[in-house]
Amino acid sequence: MPDSSGIRYPASGIWHPGSNSRRYNSYSEYIRKLFGGRVQKVAVDAGFTCPNRDGTLGYDGCTYCDNKAFNPSYCNPTESLHEQIRKGIEFHSVRYRRANKFLVYFQPFSNTYAPLALLKEKYEEALSFPDVVGLVIGTRPDCVDDEKLRYLSDLSKSYYIQVEYGVETHNDVTLQRINRGHSSAIAIEAIRKTHDLGIKTGAHYILGLPGETVIEMMSMADIISALPLDTVKFHQLQIVKGTEMEKEFQKCPDAFHRFGMEDYIDFIVRFSERLNPRIVIERFTGEVPPRFIENHNWGLLRNDNVLLLIEKEFEMRDTWQGKYYS
Ligand code: SF4
Repeated sequence: MPDSSGIRYPASGIWHPGSNSRRYNSYSEYIRKLFGGRVQKVAVDAGFTCPNRDGTLGYDGCTYCDNKAFNPSYCNPTESLHEQIRKGIEFHSVRYRRANKFLVYFQPFSNTYAPLALLKEKYEEALSFPDVVGLVIGTRPDCVDDEKLRYLSDLSKSYYIQVEYGVETHNDVTLQRINRGHSSAIAIEAIRKTHDLGIKTGAHYILGLPGETVIEMMSMADIISALPLDTVKFHQLQIVKGTEMEKEFQKCPDAFHRFGMEDYIDFIVRFSERLNPRIVIERFTGEVPPRFIENHNWGLLRNDNVLLLIEKEFEMRDTWQGKYYS
């Protein structure tokens, strides 16, 4: 029910430390509270690669991977990092007039997979922009070490520094099947070390990976809840054209639980009910441009439209993140 300030709290009074008007611990509110206003992410491609692509672990990559499908159009690796950031800031300043602070998001591939000296050069170049207040660094859990984490820990005393790990699932059989090249234990160790050094720690998960049942996916809410994560991103599996996963799907569609949109909304609301309310949810769904997706079965709804439907479902069920978390 609304309190005197108009903020709506769940009837039971159970809520999360970042109480706000939403029924889940939302990233936009979290960032707004932290910085006192809107902060926009500027995605960049800093030219890193990944051990699952350069031959260290393999050349084929994860079976679902096509980085082109996930890269914003203004993020062009043939341009210098400086130019990408400059253009990204310009783009967002026009699009969102209230945006005057930015986080540089090192997004494609594994952005800690390079010698520390090169990482320092790239990160510090990004931080040299006066309106850049921090970094979000997407990477694999097997691409960090103590030296890199200590450096990021030092940086985080002056800036917002978040490491976002591609964990995808905690099921080792699935991790092998999708050719990730690391185990769940490695992901958990990286998450714990990063958190212990005072660095904001995020993780990315895919729901609907081959071989996983709805019950198995649901049980991951309890594993995630026990981890010292600050933020999480979830997305439904989207099978990108031309990937190994597309071939697997063509051969063996029954191995995949393909969520229809209503089915997914029901799942993600129930999943959130089990999720630790302390963890900030950055995203419930993913969005790949339709030209990349095989068998696009959600129509052309954008992430924001689906988010509204998810929020409506929370309201309709009078439920919230963490309602059944124990
Ligand atoms: S780790 Fe990331 S960049 Fe590397 S192959 Fe897998 S999904 Fe692609």
